[in-house]
Amino acid sequence: MASKGLQSSVSILKGIGQETEESLAAMGIFTIQDLLDYFPYRYEDYRLKDLADAQHEERVTVEGKVHSEPSLMYFGRKKSRLTVRILAGRYLIKVVFFNQPYLKSKMEINETVTISGKWDQHRQTITALEFHNGPHIKKTDFEPVYSTKGSISVKALRKFIGLALKEFGHEIRENIPESLKSMYKLQDRLLAMKSMHFPSSQEDMKQARRRFVYEEFLYFQLKMQALRKFEREQTSGISQNYDIKRLKKFISSLPFPLTNAQKRVVNEICKDMKSPYRMNRLLQGDVGSGKTVVAAIGLFASFTAGFQGALMVPTEILAEQHAESLFELLSPSGLTIALLTSSVKGKKRREILERCAAGEIDVLIGTHALIQEEVVFDNLGLVITDEQHRFGVEQRRVLREKGENPDVLFMTATPIPRTLAITVFGEMDVSIIDEMPAGRKAIETYWAKHDMLDRVLGFVEKELANGHQAYVICPLIEESDKLDVQNAIDVYNMLSQHFQSKYKVGLMHGRLSSDEKEMVMKEFSENAVQLLVSTTVVEVGVNVPNATMMMIYDAERFGLAQLHQLRGRVGRGSEQSYCILLADPRTEVGKERMKIMTETNDGFVLSEKDLELRGPGDFFGKKQSGLPDFKVADMIHDYRALEIARNDAKTLIDSEEFWTSSEYESLRAYLERTGVLNGEKLD
Ligand code: ADP
Ligand code: MG
Repeated sequence: MASKGLQSSVSILKGIGQETEESLAAMGIFTIQDLLDYFPYRYEDYRLKDLADAQHEERVTVEGKVHSEPSLMYFGRKKSRLTVRILAGRYLIKVVFFNQPYLKSKMEINETVTISGKWDQHRQTITALEFHNGPHIKKTDFEPVYSTKGSISVKALRKFIGLALKEFGHEIRENIPESLKSMYKLQDRLLAMKSMHFPSSQEDMKQARRRFVYEEFLYFQLKMQALRKFEREQTSGISQNYDIKRLKKFISSLPFPLTNAQKRVVNEICKDMKSPYRMNRLLQGDVGSGKTVVAAIGLFASFTAGFQGALMVPTEILAEQHAESLFELLSPSGLTIALLTSSVKGKKRREILERCAAGEIDVLIGTHALIQEEVVFDNLGLVITDEQHRFGVEQRRVLREKGENPDVLFMTATPIPRTLAITVFGEMDVSIIDEMPAGRKAIETYWAKHDMLDRVLGFVEKELANGHQAYVICPLIEESDKLDVQNAIDVYNMLSQHFQSKYKVGLMHGRLSSDEKEMVMKEFSENAVQLLVSTTVVEVGVNVPNATMMMIYDAERFGLAQLHQLRGRVGRGSEQSYCILLADPRTEVGKERMKIMTETNDGFVLSEKDLELRGPGDFFGKKQSGLPDFKVADMIHDYRALEIARNDAKTLIDSEEFWTSSEYESLRAYLERTGVLNGEKLD
């Protein structure tokens, strides 16, 4: 339980004036507690390193003897490079200092010096960041490194955290039940807090991290499990008594028979809708597995029960495409469909809003525009979000509150490994479409190095000559100093040059206005443009069946799940489709990832693999996941701990003692504070 002192403003610490306070506030640090919870993202390792154990590009500290006369070179007036050979253990290495010419006089042959810097294994060179004339002086083995904002330096932050620990450390209370703490041999909270910030050894650091990972997961899972419990016990949803006869007729009027997997999930959804419980279901299905039609069936069922439905998607392009498909599927049966995005303005907008409030619109499709206050439903029964991982918890909650406990279906094409899905979405029911519509040809994926571009372009041209279209995906819009990656505008210029007047090339990226985007998409879907160069804007949902070729630049920069999503833009018609990954991955893991992409089209297999490899870009994507933000824990890296915490939380929540014993009082108080116990939902 947080005590009063920990809740005081950071300004009570010595040395924190107004400016510092403001900078800390910008970092989300207001109280002493916040300050203590602000953990380092890495540690500077000041232990002496044997270069035999050093990794390429790692920061190392070595002690050695000056072996040769340093040589100094000037570039212009201010820039210089000082080079010296040092004998460090068995290694004769080169050390380079930039713009520190005065160090030359501090180096005498055969004298001992200490150097910290970046190790280049191939060149056997250290680019020095710190220099000390003499043997290594041990101050500390590890120094915490924090991300900072404004006028605050890492050094100052270290000082404030040290102060806070000293003055308020005694107020830090243990918050993991004793039985669990001793079962897993976890560090005390105070000790762990100290070790997170100022570890005395690597083991110490590891134990502190282990404790906080478990703590974060346990608290997270307590909420989830409490939610799950109340979700089941409270009968607050609506029973949607849909017309089964009309529904069956509707399904048989579809242009294709449902796959078995689609039938199964439709049954699961319909059962939830009919039950008095509020549906809270996650629908997972790989790209192209046919989630849209499942959504349409749900919306139709809701309509026959006398309710309205809403579908929220993350981008305008996707909203428009969904509106179009749902119009085709649903309007022949008499449903009124409307599209609401921020580009729908003026009189048209007013009319849609009025008709929606009057219950004259049966299905409203849109972007975030749907959750604005002005949007009112008469009788909202079913809320669906597509690509749910792109929406935050808050946005989903607002949409849901537009009705009285409407049924909710979250759709996602990001396959989440089964183990993770049950853990992370512990309070949701999960439906999975694990089967592709029949007759779909598997996309053939190839991996080529960038120097094979000519051959690849020949391949692309062949597809275009057959009357098909192609996507070319680039990681960035414009040239960037930081990243040496192909950018959409350059590639667009290059390809326009290459194909001259033979084929028309289009350009699409996030900086275009939505009118411009729509224009380009329209040209592409009408085959007025044959080759579409784009950033990842086309990632979700876009459907142009005549596009049979996708080429992805710098494919190693994308996560496997994202590559898979992108690839799903082709292979949507009956023709054979191809995906070419242009990539020169430098690491073994990078190569492995490209290889896996060429070997499987199964998103679940890919996600399991991604998890296994833990490649750099994890498959949830960076910030936008809508998943809880853990300070220390990493859901993928630490998933075993997550599973353990989940089981512990479940056991606790389902036990009698949890609700009565004083041992769990603080945990109950925590749940009280989060609102879970008052029936407030977190999503
Ligand atoms: P996603 O799950 O990626 O949203 P879509 O719903 O866009 O997939 O479906 C992809 C394509 O497959 C669409 O063109 C859709 O009409 C078609 N489709 C969906 N279900 C079936 C089915 N059972 N049989 C044949 N084609 C189907
Ligand atoms: Mg879809």
